[in-house]
Amino acid sequence: MLVVQKYGGTSVANTDRIASVAAKLSEQHSSGDKIVVVVSALAGETDRLLALTNQVTSDVSERERDIVVSTGEQVSAGLLALALKERGVPAVTLLSFQIPIVTDGVYGRSKINAVAADRLLGLIEKGNVVIVPGFQGISPAGEITTLGRGGSDTTAVAIAVAVKADCCEIYSDVDGVYSSDPNVCGGAQKIKKLTYDEMLEIAGAGAKIVQMRAVELAAKFDLPLHIRSSFENVEGTRVANGAANNGEMGNRVVSAITHTLGEAKVSVRKVPNRTGLAAKLFEPLSKSNINVDMIVQNISEDNKTDLSFTVDKHDFKKALALTERSAAKIGAGRVEAAGDVSKISIIGVGMRSHAGVAAQMFETLANEGVDIQLISTSEIKVSVVIDMKFTELAVRSLHKAFALG
Ligand code: ASP
Ligand code: MG
Repeated sequence: MLVVQKYGGTSVANTDRIASVAAKLSEQHSSGDKIVVVVSALAGETDRLLALTNQVTSDVSERERDIVVSTGEQVSAGLLALALKERGVPAVTLLSFQIPIVTDGVYGRSKINAVAADRLLGLIEKGNVVIVPGFQGISPAGEITTLGRGGSDTTAVAIAVAVKADCCEIYSDVDGVYSSDPNVCGGAQKIKKLTYDEMLEIAGAGAKIVQMRAVELAAKFDLPLHIRSSFENVEGTRVANGAANNGEMGNRVVSAITHTLGEAKVSVRKVPNRTGLAAKLFEPLSKSNINVDMIVQNISEDNKTDLSFTVDKHDFKKALALTERSAAKIGAGRVEAAGDVSKISIIGVGMRSHAGVAAQMFETLANEGVDIQLISTSEIKVSVVIDMKFTELAVRSLHKAFALG
């Protein structure tokens, strides 16, 4: 079997943990598996490096920032190679420019355009465990660029696609994806199998288990993912296409319930119902790089529209100020704001073929006296925005209603 394994920061948090990863790899290597390992920086290291750049100047150049933060992964890669050699396992580290992993050149949030497989495959064929630092790539102009937070996942998947691995395993301190947050809902169960679409929606709904871009890439190339723990040798969550992952998923309508607390809602009253006004409201937000999540528009009396949307809590103040300015410009009414809302989503591929899932969600919440402020849906997801104080109640009652555990 040819497998790419990615170890997150907590799995390589210190030299002891690096040694236990090496011990595990050594066993697997002697069983005949071919392995490429992608590592994150030691836990907390990327934050520490970012903080250092901010201590030096308030105006950090993106180019030099990437030069600094890309080093975290190099340290863990080199240390893991040393730990393997210490055990007599042939191991070689390849940095992104040595492979090369070619990016689009955007600092801080690059996309990977190409991964050359030759050098990787040559070293694997010679019996080496090849270790690659995640998160970094090299632009066509030879610049070091990083892939955005959580980008090591994407490095791993891109390499797995390039070497045609059987599977990409994502190791971290969690042993899989759960049907809801176990801290909020005691009955949360580990999900054995998910489709790519479900995993994307779960990642998009705020779970930081795996970078969305990594899941998109895996889906595009039909590469199976296995999200599992580096601390226990147990099955995690397998992510593959619907056909490959059939069985368990076949008769389940809702797979997971997610919640995010970091949301804020902005409502603009009495927006004149004229073509192009929504664009005028949202353009300043996108220009300021503010990501708008849900948008809901209602026609009210006299051809005026009420428009509400949610943004990340961190962007709340800025979004509010920008919206107040635009609302005045276009002759809209009051701008109202709520900083204490949460978003609850139910996710499942079964929704494609089952009617009434949204209705069941709304009824469950109504029975608990939870008022729904906004609703949005995709083919396999229904999300609602509610008062933050009802978050736990909502998650638990939905978990029960959809028989998730
Ligand atoms: N070290 C980077 C981060 O903390 C990349 C990664 O771990 O995936 O975001
Ligand atoms: Mg991560």
